Amino acid sequence: MADVYDVIVIGGGPAGYVAAIRAAQLGLKTACVEKWIDKQEKPALGGTCLNVGCIPSKALLESTELYETAKHSFPDLGINVGEVTLDVPKMISRKDKVVQELTGGIQMLFKQNGIDWLQGSGQLLADKQVKVTAHDGTDTVYDSENVIIATGSVPINLSATPLEGNIVVDSAGALDWQAVPGSVCVIGAGVIGLELGSVWRRLGSTVVLLEAQDTFLPMVDKAVAREADRAFKKQGLDIRLSTRVMGSTVKGDQVVVTYQDADGTHEQVFDKLIVAVGRRAFTDDVCASEAGVEQDERGLFHVNDHCETNVPGVYAIGDVVRGPMLAHKGSEEGVMVAERIAGENASLNYDVMPNVIYTHPEVAWVGKTEEQLKSEGIDYQVGSFPFAASGRAKAKGDTTGLVKIIRDKSNDRVVGAHLIGPSASELLAQSVLAMEFDATVEDIAHTIHAHPTLSEAMHEAALSADGRAIHIGNRKRK
Ligand code: FAD
Ligand code: NAD
Repeated sequence: MADVYDVIVIGGGPAGYVAAIRAAQLGLKTACVEKWIDKQEKPALGGTCLNVGCIPSKALLESTELYETAKHSFPDLGINVGEVTLDVPKMISRKDKVVQELTGGIQMLFKQNGIDWLQGSGQLLADKQVKVTAHDGTDTVYDSENVIIATGSVPINLSATPLEGNIVVDSAGALDWQAVPGSVCVIGAGVIGLELGSVWRRLGSTVVLLEAQDTFLPMVDKAVAREADRAFKKQGLDIRLSTRVMGSTVKGDQVVVTYQDADGTHEQVFDKLIVAVGRRAFTDDVCASEAGVEQDERGLFHVNDHCETNVPGVYAIGDVVRGPMLAHKGSEEGVMVAERIAGENASLNYDVMPNVIYTHPEVAWVGKTEEQLKSEGIDYQVGSFPFAASGRAKAKGDTTGLVKIIRDKSNDRVVGAHLIGPSASELLAQSVLAMEFDATVEDIAHTIHAHPTLSEAMHEAALSADGRAIHIGNRKRK
């Protein structure tokens, strides 16, 4: 029997490592079990987010957006740079360096906070004991007062399109190609499909997205989704809705994809295929049956509002529990649980959860859509402002999109904000803050925004709710 901990966290992704750091800050004796082995064959912290998710995808989105701007927009800005050329292996190794620096940073933070990193695979046994199987196969059992399960998620595979080498890949595989494929098929026009589809399209691939549903981005505000559809199609992303993929066959260094749509069955040959049809909670063997932790049919752990499972002292956070699979959602759950273990009365406002799709233009939203408000019978009013009327967006040469803010008519509170456009991910933060502070649309309208900034679009959208936006014509309101 080894040490007794106050907290053992199983999983060192953005949910688990943040929980561990917060627990240690609060004076709790903390360990984190993490089994990840990275591309350099070294144990690594940071989980999906840092190693093969949020961070590497954004590193590539950044490089490729700059490449596209340099290639296609510089002349319009009066800049001639001659031929713009690509070094894909360098782009990929820069992405790997960003990842390594950040995962190394978590390791440093663990050291600074006195957190024990137990390298290997953790399993919860009865009585909050945790068995850790190290990478060399040896088992050690630890006792803990509290256990936080944060084992994250993995891509969903389709049996009809099995992964094969670097030709049929999941999201992680699509972050590592060393050359630009001529053509890429993506199964799933969701968040990953659009982000990674954008990366390779910008570099020159022909990209086709096959989506089973008949609605594009059904979770997004309708006007924003329409604008996104228009913008992505204009860029050349070939998004095909109501399409059922029947199978794929690798032939040489290409893949034949068979799919069905309203016109019948088709076959198309691509250089690469990315399967991006969602993720599933990774909870296989994380709890021994004697631990008694309840899960649903999808493997998610049943938790209350404070992420405690049916077993007192055992918590679950991040992608293994209900709610969106987002890094910041998991991290904030980690903070809440650590603080509750330390005796604080922490909680989380799930109604104010920011969402972003990091395409260009970016799509970002928080709170309710018009459709949700309608179905809930809430009397609401919308203010909106197009970036085409923003001086700063014009100066940037980046005017696609709009800001839309929604208020509850009964009390003027902000109940939703929906954006598409330049820096929408950053602009969203002010409406998230407004909602967290229960601010009104009038509060935003009353706030001085620096000129010329993109954030003025939010100000103007708030003004437009009362028909008093300055830089657009206003419809008369009752
Ligand atoms: P994970 O990050 O999956 O971490 C779980 C960790 O637990 C892993 O390191 C795993 O090795 C470890 N583990 C599992 N089982 C065990 C065990 N038995 N013992 C020890 N360790 C174990 N979200 C955003 O908010 N913004 C984005 O921009 C974004 N981009 C994404 C891009 C891509 C391509 C992908 C795939 C995902 C993206 N996500 C994004 C989603 C985000 O990565 C996840 O929501 C987030 O990582 C979930 O955090 P987590 O800590 O719950 O799980
Ligand atoms: P997703 O749910 O966003 O999209 C999957 C898409 O695949 C859906 O539109 C679905 O209808 C479609 N689909 C499912 N089965 C299909 C089939 N057989 N044929 C054709 N289409 C099919 O999932 P994702 O894009 O894989 O992302 C997984 C998770 O990771 C998401 O929950 C997301 O929140 C998270 N993520 C977040 C970000 C971000 O915050 N920017 C980025 C990437 C991933």
